[in-house]
Amino acid sequence: VPVSLLSRLAETTDDRPGAVRVGDRSLSWVELRRAATAVADDLRGAARVAVPATASLETVVGVVGGLLAGAAVVPVPPDAGPMERDHILRDSGAELLLAAPGAPDADAASPPVVPLDLARRSDTRHPEPDPAATALILYTSGTTGAPKGAVLSRRAIAACLDGLADAWAWTPDDVLAHGLPLFHVHGLVLGVLGPLRVGSRLRHVGRPHPERYAAAGASMYFGVPTIWSRIAAQPAAARALRGARLLVSGSAALPEPVFAALAGLTGHRPLERYGMTETLVTVSARADGPRRPGTVGVPLPGVRTRVVDEHGGPLPAGAMGELQVRGGTLFDGYLNRPDADAATRTADGWFRTGDVATVGPDGAHRIVGRAATDLISSGGYRIGAGEVEDALLAHPGVREAAVVGTPHPDLGQQVTAYVVGDGVAEAELIDFVARHLSAHKRPRQVRLVGALPRNAMGKVQKSRLTEV
Ligand code: ATP
Ligand code: MG
Repeated sequence: VPVSLLSRLAETTDDRPGAVRVGDRSLSWVELRRAATAVADDLRGAARVAVPATASLETVVGVVGGLLAGAAVVPVPPDAGPMERDHILRDSGAELLLAAPGAPDADAASPPVVPLDLARRSDTRHPEPDPAATALILYTSGTTGAPKGAVLSRRAIAACLDGLADAWAWTPDDVLAHGLPLFHVHGLVLGVLGPLRVGSRLRHVGRPHPERYAAAGASMYFGVPTIWSRIAAQPAAARALRGARLLVSGSAALPEPVFAALAGLTGHRPLERYGMTETLVTVSARADGPRRPGTVGVPLPGVRTRVVDEHGGPLPAGAMGELQVRGGTLFDGYLNRPDADAATRTADGWFRTGDVATVGPDGAHRIVGRAATDLISSGGYRIGAGEVEDALLAHPGVREAAVVGTPHPDLGQQVTAYVVGDGVAEAELIDFVARHLSAHKRPRQVRLVGALPRNAMGKVQKSRLTEV
């Protein structure tokens, strides 16, 4: 693996317009390097720099500038409230804040501000940073609790991107389109650093609207399940993706009915991959391999996985248990969270994902869900929430569904479903699931709600469900 993370950008002479487009503004590769180098010149050896991560060209230039300077870059979610923002700025120890014109004013908690100005250019050659140096401090999505800062090295990111380029046959001929936020692995590492490392063009569509995906005319599209579900619900937008090469889904489970609808409308079976902030992407379907609904493929080159019981012991092939991973894509630990760190590593050096999975005879991984919230223990059965959610979503009146286990006096837990629907009744939905799955998997209770609590990645925050 050539571990120099940005080697291709450092060497490129390609000055054709439009290589990196965000919204309606773009830069060539050479312009991006020269603008980012001007930012790097301003950083004066700072070890950690924060970048407000709006979906903008400034964010791309700021992040790349920090990386060229060898700093650890801390993207700050633009919609973070003042407390979350202060937490990230303090917790990360950022020494400078790169701020675009018009960004919210710096406050008392902010480190000194360095303005981000896209018009400047520089050709300074900054020394190549150590591959073991931190590239990014990314905060987890906050689906299960407060976000934790994950420390990611340059070589872990390079290893992940090279593995994905191999798995997806991703080449400089590709054009990638997406509308993902630029402060998580999906949008930033895969969605920005990926094209930079591979040399493929990027069209960030600004916001994840189906119409904007449809208009992008790209060869690869990245999305979270919520955008794929919205695209599948707009046949005209979905049909516009027929000319694509790959539709990639990740960050959460792609419901099987959405997989089927997309495949029907676009002529492409969506390609699912699985990862975490802490491990980057570790498992993916391959462009030249099978893509089955509900499965996320095989380990990337250099990654190993195993499925273990609750004591960490071996399980027979095909059994359900905790997924553990090891390999070159793993993070260097959480920032300031030795407690959380210790809990994620086994004595023999594996990372505990906290996700429950099975591995089929062909090596295809199936993510059942999170051990903490998606595995329901009811009357001696273990029920995966995702299977019940998929069954509910197959009902034409159900738009969104989230299933959890709630306390039950005899069963231990009962299956409880939260549903956003159009004119559906509780009894009808319980019946519907009972007709499609084994009897013990049917919800005992269905609560019809106006919306599900979701984070910036569109993931359902199950611990907040009881609040809706
Ligand atoms: P937090 O750790 O703060 O609670 P989070 O776990 O959602 O938030 P991320 O690191 O962004 O933060 O997400 C990783 C998790 O997303 C995985 O542990 C897994 O539960 C889920 N996930 C990612 N990809 C998939 C997929 N293809 N199928 C099912 N689940 C997925
Ligand atoms: Mg997590």
